[in-house]
This record gives sequence, structure tokens and C-alpha cells, in this order.
Amino acid sequence: MTSLSSSEAFSLAKKYLVGGVNSPVRAYSFVGGTPPFIAKAKGAYIYDIDAHKYIDYVNSWGACIVGHSHPEVVKAVSEQASQGLSYGAPTLLEVKLAQKIAQEVPSMEQMRFVCSGTEATMSAIRVARAYTGHHHILKFHGHYHGHSDALLTASGSGVITQGLPGSAGVPPASVASTLVIPFNCPASLEKVFAEHGKHLACVICELVVGNSGFILPQQDFLDTLKNLVKRYKVLVIADEVMSGFRVGMGGAQKEYDIQPDMTVLGKVIGGGLPIGAYGGRAQIMSLVAPQGDVYQAGTLAGNPLAMASGLATMNILSQEGAFEQLHTRTTQLCKGLLECAQRHGIDLVSANLGGMFGFAFSAKTIKNISTLNALDHNIFKTFFHCMLRLGIYLPPSPYEACFISLAHSQEDVEHTLAQADKAMAELKDSLKP
Ligand SMILES: *Cc1c(COP(=O)(O)O)cnc(C)c1O
Repeated sequence: MTSLSSSEAFSLAKKYLVGGVNSPVRAYSFVGGTPPFIAKAKGAYIYDIDAHKYIDYVNSWGACIVGHSHPEVVKAVSEQASQGLSYGAPTLLEVKLAQKIAQEVPSMEQMRFVCSGTEATMSAIRVARAYTGHHHILKFHGHYHGHSDALLTASGSGVITQGLPGSAGVPPASVASTLVIPFNCPASLEKVFAEHGKHLACVICELVVGNSGFILPQQDFLDTLKNLVKRYKVLVIADEVMSGFRVGMGGAQKEYDIQPDMTVLGKVIGGGLPIGAYGGRAQIMSLVAPQGDVYQAGTLAGNPLAMASGLATMNILSQEGAFEQLHTRTTQLCKGLLECAQRHGIDLVSANLGGMFGFAFSAKTIKNISTLNALDHNIFKTFFHCMLRLGIYLPPSPYEACFISLAHSQEDVEHTLAQADKAMAELKDSLKP
């Protein structure tokens, strides 16, 4: 088994695992080719079973923000493992993590831990519907909120990467109360609120978008949203599964001064172990069982290993200068990529915030998923494969954001840019008519 190559491993995988993977984007169906099978990861680097080393800009889709296998995180998890893997009973660890999160994200007065972002968004919507007594929810085209039925329409991430409008197996009734409008479009917001505002339970939104490429919110959009939800008394659910503790310590809501009624977290707060959390104003969260009558439970929720990993990760992230370092590196990367594209006469835009960034082979800024859909993705595919061959591990889809960790050094960034220069030179050759 150990001497298999990635392509042999993928053939074997396809026999037993659907599509050879446990999450669609991992299969490389968009970019083509065979995904590297991973043997290990340490710091900023990830290694495949073919003995290639890559600088990792996926970082488990953002979760591993302090770098892979950080000694303090490994220590916390192993110490906890020796004390038991799961009890199905309260622990002090989960209280400590909740306390830490509430301190950094004050809109989350009370919260509940679950095992994935999907569960967290699904549960938050259930609470919002119970609280308001309304059933309709509003989401934005290309935003991904996990794979629960009501949210699997006009979704981002793997759904759009696979070119699907939604998902088979979702009954029309499940999405009948889900309204979808374009992101960063104040006029669409005005229109949908005028028609449906009175019976909307909530607006769920990736304030900083990481699932239709990387997109920052425009101020006029945020201002309109703030005014409308106030006027119509509609709850705002900030889906910060990706942006929470990733774009800044207090998430996108702090960066953009938004006070959501509820917030959903995942990824970083588990430091690489399965986790999700939803929370909000105590008055709203008091509806959740056992205090209230909105039912939601989990055998492994608040799992001690995930709590230990999350706490250790948070402690490292809280150190002075952590987010400044992340932001400096992503700024340097984005600036470098732009300069590189310019040198080669290639259209490119990029954006970054904290430890998250994105780029697109586009002449126009990416405002929402429509801008992205209009691009020729063959350019991305060629660039992606050049970079992979040159030892740079990027997300295998233009619909995903990129991530760095505290382990990424300035040298790693410089090396990445040098490789990008070679890749763009190749790209230019391949673009010649
Ligand atoms: C990853 C993600 C989810 C889903 O989380 P899972 O843990 O994969 O279920 C939901 N919302 C956003 C914004 C995400 O990035």
C-alpha cells in the first residue's frame, strides 16, 4: 500500500469512495488530472505520497491557520487524547473555547458547538425561523452555507465548481422558501425586501466571500443591508465559517462594523479538527433546547479533541502581531501576483484580508459570482497545473479562496512569486493564437 503513487491511489480510491474522495472539490474534476494524495504536512508545507513538497495555500480550506502540526496544538490534542477522546458530557474545555469566542466576537453572547459548518448554518436558520415566526430566508448567489437542503440552491464552492444549479435529491419544497439574489447589488436587496421583507426570517451571508472566489463586500451594499434589516426586523446570520478568525480576530463583522443577530463559525475555531458553532444574542439563543423548544443535538458536539485543538489555535492566534503578519504576507502575495501578471501582459485582479486572499484572470474587479462565471477558466486551469508542478499547492478551482498560515515566511511568499512568474510565462506562451 505505502508504495502506491497518487494516480494509483486515486484509481484504488475510486473503487471504494464515490469519485475517489470525501468532498467533491478534492477530486480535481474542474482542473483535470489526478489529485496528489497527501502523506503529511508540517508548517507551511504539504507533502504527497510521491515525495513532492508543496507550499500549501489551501491549509485544509483555511482551518489550519497557525501552520500544520504546530507543536502547541499537537501537544494539546495528544494530552487530551490520553485523557479520553469523547465523553458525551460537559467539559470545562468547551466552556473555555466558548468564552474565548464570545470575547472576540461579542455578537455571540451564547453559542452551541456542533461538528461541522453545515450543521451550524442549518441550525442557525431553524432558530431564526422559530424566533421570527417566518419561513422565508434570503441568501446570495454563489455563497456557500454547507449542504443542508434549504441552502443548496445557487450555491458556491463545489456546487458551482461542478457546474450544478443546486443539487438533485432536494425536494422543491425545501428550497421554496429560499430567495436568492446577487451579492454586492443594493438594487436587488431593495427589490427583494419590498416584495418579501415582511415575511423574511433572516438573511444569511458570507460577509467576506470565500466560496465564489474571494470577494470583499462593497460599502453601499452593506449600508443598504443594514438599513433594510432594521426597517423590516429581519435577522442577519453572518456565515463566518470561513472568515471567522481568518480575516481578523473578530471576523468580517468586526472588519466591516456589522452587528449580526447570529453568527456561524467553523474551520479555524477547530484548528483542523471537525467543528462548527452557531451563536448570537442570548435572547435568540435561549430558544435552543434544553432552554427552549428548538431542537438540536450532537453525540460528538463539543468533542474534547476539537476543543483542545481550537483553544490551542486561538491562543497562538491571539499573540501580538499575528494578524498583522498574515495580512502583510497576503498583501505581498497579491501585489506580487499583480506585478507578475502585468510583466507578462496578462489580465489579473486580486484581493486579500488577513490570512485570506484570492486572484482571478480578469480585467475587472470581481463583484460577485457573475463576474467570475463570465471568465475563460482555461487560463486558471493552465496556471493551476503549472503552479502545482512548480511546488505551489493552490485550491483546484477559481471558485475558492486561498489561505496562508502563520508558518508561511516571507521567503515562502518570495519563492511562490518566483514560481508564479515562471507559470505566467508558460501561460503567455499557451495563450498565443
Ligand atoms: C466551509 C463552509 C461551510 C460548511 O462547513 P463544513 O464544515 O464544510 O460543513 C459553511 N459556510 C461557509 C462560508 C464555509 O466556508
